[in-house]
Amino acid sequence: MIVPSCIRDFALEAGFDDAGATHAHRLDEDAQRLEAWLRKGCEGSMQYMAENFEKRVNPEALVPGTKTVVCAVLSYYKHNPQPQGAPYIALSGLSERDYHEVVKQKLLRLEHSLIAEYGPAVVNNDYQHLFCDSAPVLERAWARECGLGWIGKNRQFIHPTLGSYVHLGILFLNEALVPDEPTPAAANRCADCNLCLRACPTKAIREDGMDARRCVSYLTIERKEPLPDEHKDKPYMGLYGCDNCQRVCPYNSDLTPDRHPELSANPLFAQMTAQDWQATSRRQKSKLLRRLAK
Ligand code: SF4
Ligand code: SF4
Repeated sequence: MIVPSCIRDFALEAGFDDAGATHAHRLDEDAQRLEAWLRKGCEGSMQYMAENFEKRVNPEALVPGTKTVVCAVLSYYKHNPQPQGAPYIALSGLSERDYHEVVKQKLLRLEHSLIAEYGPAVVNNDYQHLFCDSAPVLERAWARECGLGWIGKNRQFIHPTLGSYVHLGILFLNEALVPDEPTPAAANRCADCNLCLRACPTKAIREDGMDARRCVSYLTIERKEPLPDEHKDKPYMGLYGCDNCQRVCPYNSDLTPDRHPELSANPLFAQMTAQDWQATSRRQKSKLLRRLAK
C-alpha cells in the first residue's frame, strides 16, 4: 500500500513542483463531457481525440491492473524574450528542450524511487505506464482528481500557486493507496471571473466548453489543413499558439519564472525578428518549434 505523502516527497526529489495521487477509477463525468464535445465536432482535425475512447477515460482499459494514478506538475512559466513585432510563440513552445522528454525523465526518476521503496511490482512493465501528452490520457482531469487544482473556463488546468503554465506528467501504479478513501478533488475557483472569455480573440471559449476549431493554438499547432480565410492575416495569428487566455488569468499574475533551467527559453528566439522569421523556411521553423500546423 502506498502513502500519498511519500509520492509527493519522491516527486519533489525527482524535480517536480507538486504531485498528488488518487485511486484509479473511470472518469464518468469527463467521459460525458468528451462525448458531447466530440458530437459537436469541436475536435476539428484532431480525430485521435475520438479514438481509444474507453482507454482515454478508464485507466483499467489502458493499463490493466492500475490501482493508483499519480499526477506530477512542472512549471514552465517564463518571460517571453521575443523582440517586439516577432510572430508570437506561446510560452510552452519557447523552451529550449522538448518538454515531453524533460517530464518523462523526471517521471522515470519518480518511478525508480517508488520501485526502491515498494518493489518492482508497483508498476506494470508489460504496458507503457508513464505519460506526458503521449497517450489517450486525460491529464488535466487526473490533476483535478488528484486534488492539485481545477480545470478553468479556458480549459487549462490551474494550480492554485503554480498557475496554468504547467506541464503534467502521469504515472499509473499497480499498488493501491492508503487510506482507502478517494482523494478529494480540488474545487473550481474561477467563480464569476470571465477574463479569459473576454480575452480570447476568436471566441473559442464558450460557456459550454472550448471550440478547438477556433482556438489559435489548434490553428497554428494541430490543424492539418490550410488556415480558414476568416483567420488569415489576422493580428492574433502568431507562429505557435496563443497565451491570451492564460495571460489574463488572475492565477497567473504572480508566478516565479524559470523554475527549471531545462525549460528556459531558447536564446535564439530572443534574436529572431519578424524579418528573420519571414526568411526562415517552413522546415526550419518546424524544427525550431518541433510541431507546427500546415
Ligand atoms: S489559446 Fe488563444 S485562441 Fe485559444 S482559447 Fe485561449 S485565448 Fe482563445
Ligand atoms: S481567467 Fe478567470 S475564468 Fe478564466 S480560467 Fe482564469 S480564473 Fe477562470
